[in-house]
Amino acid sequence: KKKLSLVDENRIMVFVRVRPIAKKEAGSRCCVRIVNHCEVYLTEFAAQDDYLRLKRVRGRHFTFDACFSDSATQQEVYSTSTSELVESVLQGKNGTVFCYGATGAGKTYTMLGTVESPGVMVLAIKDLFSKIRTRSCDGNHVVHLSYLEVYNETVRDLISPGRPLVLREDKQGIVAAGLTQYRAYSTDEVMALLQQGNRNRTTEPTRANETSSRSHAVLQVMVEYRVRDAAMNIVHRVGKLSLIDLAGSERALATDQRTLRSLEGANINRSLLALSSCINALVEGKKHIPYRNSKLTQLLKDSLGGTCNTVMIANISPSNLSFGETQNTLHWADRAKEI
Ligand code: ADP
Ligand code: MG
Repeated sequence: KKKLSLVDENRIMVFVRVRPIAKKEAGSRCCVRIVNHCEVYLTEFAAQDDYLRLKRVRGRHFTFDACFSDSATQQEVYSTSTSELVESVLQGKNGTVFCYGATGAGKTYTMLGTVESPGVMVLAIKDLFSKIRTRSCDGNHVVHLSYLEVYNETVRDLISPGRPLVLREDKQGIVAAGLTQYRAYSTDEVMALLQQGNRNRTTEPTRANETSSRSHAVLQVMVEYRVRDAAMNIVHRVGKLSLIDLAGSERALATDQRTLRSLEGANINRSLLALSSCINALVEGKKHIPYRNSKLTQLLKDSLGGTCNTVMIANISPSNLSFGETQNTLHWADRAKEI
């Protein structure tokens, strides 16, 4: 049996989360079933002559590190997928968690959640502070947060929105010049900050209240630790946790085939496709990882591959109405787990 641990294996941990059936999907067939906590069984149905009756045509099993059903709590998802990364960030190791999936599949719910049911971002910060509190006697930890959006290959600060930010390479790696580094002291302030940040994400002109499905939101939590050891030497560690609510994956495939017609289409694609290429290169054990191809992958250069811990949470709808997207998401996730 596979060991469920990230800390000493450098590979991508891949999880799947099925969200509850939505109101607008009421009456549709459910095409996903979770078996043994780590397998998803996806059923393909086809309409018969009588179009109301669907016939099961084929099915396929996918195996992941764990699968969360529609009744899994935010805490369960956090504990299983991300809590180990928080621990290793405290040891000075970088880690990244992505939510991947089609629009409406539950990425933002998983990452940010609601005030009543906070998601991975908030639970990670809460856990981080509680872990720091228990060890504060032996040193000083400083926590900074940055929250940005990549939209149309433009990087924007979600904490203090303004002009697009330029990426620069310096000693620390690639940084967004002028990005707010918010010093966080407690969890209480963080949910409000992240909710507001999420409202600052780009919206489609036609759907003014909805976050664009093409926007990637990146929360980075930097934990710095400094202490003098017995010989009075300064011990300094920095760990970074990146938590990413990716753009909807449905367009990545659609626009890829249509030879990048609109500029916007090309750009959305660019970050998601570049991320896929980096993951493919990592899967194949290539030496050269093409981080330079997009803003998102440049920003994640020090947080993907190498000795970094990476977690992918693939979000899917249970409804047959989203069969195609679910199948694409599961294939993509299945590929990613081979690293
Ligand atoms: P995405 O960010 O992938 O487009 P959302 O996270 O916005 O999708 O989810 C779409 C809808 O489904 C939202 O109304 C959200 O609150 C709801 N939802 C998603 N996942 C869950 C879940 N696990 N439990 C309850 N509601 C969920
Ligand atoms: Mg969303």
